[in-house]
Amino acid sequence: MMRTFEYREDRFPKGVNMEHIETATTPDIPSIPLTDSVSIPQIGFGVFQISASTTQQAVEQALEIGYRHIDTAAAYYNERGVGDALRATGMADKVFVTSKLRNCDQGYDAARVAFDTTLANLGLDHLDLYLIHWPFPAVNQYVETWKALLELQQEGVIRAAGVSNFLPEHLRRLIDETGKAPAIDQLEVHPSFSQPETLRFCKDHGIAVEAYSPLGHGSDMQAEPIRQAAEAHRVTPAQVVLRWHVQSGRVIIPKSTHAERMRQNLDVFGFELTAEEMRGISALHDPANRVGADPATFVQSQSWANQKSRGNIPD
Ligand code: NDP
Repeated sequence: MMRTFEYREDRFPKGVNMEHIETATTPDIPSIPLTDSVSIPQIGFGVFQISASTTQQAVEQALEIGYRHIDTAAAYYNERGVGDALRATGMADKVFVTSKLRNCDQGYDAARVAFDTTLANLGLDHLDLYLIHWPFPAVNQYVETWKALLELQQEGVIRAAGVSNFLPEHLRRLIDETGKAPAIDQLEVHPSFSQPETLRFCKDHGIAVEAYSPLGHGSDMQAEPIRQAAEAHRVTPAQVVLRWHVQSGRVIIPKSTHAERMRQNLDVFGFELTAEEMRGISALHDPANRVGADPATFVQSQSWANQKSRGNIPD
């Protein structure tokens, strides 16, 4: 039986510590439409670089605090921990779950197999959102991979199909060769690296944008316009950065392993940045400030050994 998405209707499910939830500062998180029938909660909890053994605990804590959207990936090697948390809390049908296809699984046939593995790892019968993790242009298989995702969507086992790290040249090819634009592009976006050309392309083609590394790994928090806005609104610099994303209409998936920060990162709906503050923060963009890899040249396989050797899988 298919799950129904009940994000707004049932925020206080059984089996979760009510006292904790009632003190959480997360009234209603807006959703962004992805398709005619699918919306994504604007703030999610990212689990990159959370170890397999601690993921269940971190996700359970995030759910308790009020997150209803989890972002994982086959390449994080912690999908099972996410699935265990969904089962332990009884909240599988109330949480929006995203996962992503690894580079070494690109190609039509491999993508179909990889998707089945992801579903089995998560213990779900369908996924809310499935993304191609990187365009991986060196192997030039992303159009075939995209066709597999479109087919999975047709079959009803993914509710929405999207991509991650796709630049305008990659997005244009998907649209030209299949007639179907991704519902969303998950990209590195933070104040000091905001990819204006790709954001413009997405806007022009009705593609939602989801910011990964939304805090720039903390690198932007000392910037003057952010510190000033934090002081003016009596919030933290992280909240200013996340509010800047929210007011720009982006989905965000901040990651923290600290409960207080998880809570803080959801609590960005009680203040509003002025147009001048928004402009000052946006002006921090500098193409040299990327904290992740460049999609045009990223050629890692994302196999377990490869991720481990690159320090992306903590013990
Ligand atoms: P973030 O910008 O979310 O930064 C995370 C870092 O900021 C952690 O060190 C965390 O520390 C710290 N932090 C979190 N909240 C606060 C706060 N309120 N105040 C101060 N510091 C804070 O970067 P990530 O790269 O982790 O990205 C988030 C998510 O994006 C990932 O988990 C993943 O889901 C996704 N992602 C996707 C990629 C892709 O290629 N599609 C690539 C990279 C990430 P601590 O944990 O100690 O609190």
